[in-house]
Amino acid sequence: MILTYKIRHNRDFGKELLLAKKVAEFGIKHRTISSKDVRHIGLKSIIANQILLKYSKNRKARKVNNVKLTIPNQGIRIIDDKIYTPSLKLWLDVWFDKEFKKINQIEIGDVYAYISVNYDEPKTYTPETVIGVDRNSTGHILVASNINTGKVLKLGKSCNHIHNKYKNIRKVLQKQGKFKKLKKIKDRENRIIKDINHKVTTTLVKYAKEVKSGIVLEKLDEIRKTAKTRRKQRYSLNSWSFYQQQQMIEYKSKKFGVPVFYVEPQYTSQRCSRCGHIENANRNGNLFHCKNCGTVENAGVNAGFNIAWLHQQGISQFCKERDLQKGNTDIPKEALLNPEATLEPHAL
Ligand SMILES: [Zn+2]
Repeated sequence: MILTYKIRHNRDFGKELLLAKKVAEFGIKHRTISSKDVRHIGLKSIIANQILLKYSKNRKARKVNNVKLTIPNQGIRIIDDKIYTPSLKLWLDVWFDKEFKKINQIEIGDVYAYISVNYDEPKTYTPETVIGVDRNSTGHILVASNINTGKVLKLGKSCNHIHNKYKNIRKVLQKQGKFKKLKKIKDRENRIIKDINHKVTTTLVKYAKEVKSGIVLEKLDEIRKTAKTRRKQRYSLNSWSFYQQQQMIEYKSKKFGVPVFYVEPQYTSQRCSRCGHIENANRNGNLFHCKNCGTVENAGVNAGFNIAWLHQQGISQFCKERDLQKGNTDIPKEALLNPEATLEPHAL
């Protein structure tokens, strides 16, 4: 599997990027792949080669937009846990799992470096237990309930609080017409939530692997459709946070060989996971209260058990996205970690 890491390089490559554009234009005009032909432009030949390969061979390429400096595998060194590219004298102090097969390439734009890393993909194991995951539930951003052991992980407690705090700030800025500031505030909230999503999904996937468990999620499209009617989502985070979590769980699971399953969200918040009784009004804030058997349970935990239960009923579907990704390994998947946005290094 290929993961692409995105990091701010904090250097001005304006001059080199301009040269790269000239090389690309030359490549399109003369259809050459020999860096000797573009020596006069003055870009390092190892980079010029890559750009020529990309543009000269592409018969459809007519105009050159947004050329990046591409450094191939042989132009990349790992020194003292840092990535070094001699051709640009660029050090990248990016934290990620260094047990990779190889770094395919690094692409440098005006702000970011994109590091494409190839990892071995472990075989997915057969799960001994299943964990039902309730996302964006009332009290926590992610609640994971292991239906076989009864163990529960409640993760990312502060998210709704953060969301509400920023919602109020946004309202005020909107009224005042301060749109630039509004955008800044939105970006900040997104970064904080993304960071939390990284942490909670890493914890979840590592736990699942540890106990040799599968992860069961509610299908996203269903969540979107029903979001308006589901009380627990009305005031919680936007669907992008859901989608982001799902993507993170997907690729981290893939990397650790953890199987992921999906179920249709059927009565997951209305059903009592103990007795199976379904009733609309048995929610009381964070708590689920069953009027049939009297069970009082954290609503997210109850939903998590229901999600795992739905899977055990045999109504789940083995990760459809995973199959779609097959045969498409040269395009980096949505796996952008953004180290600048994090408070501490990701554990993945
Ligand atoms: Zn009950």
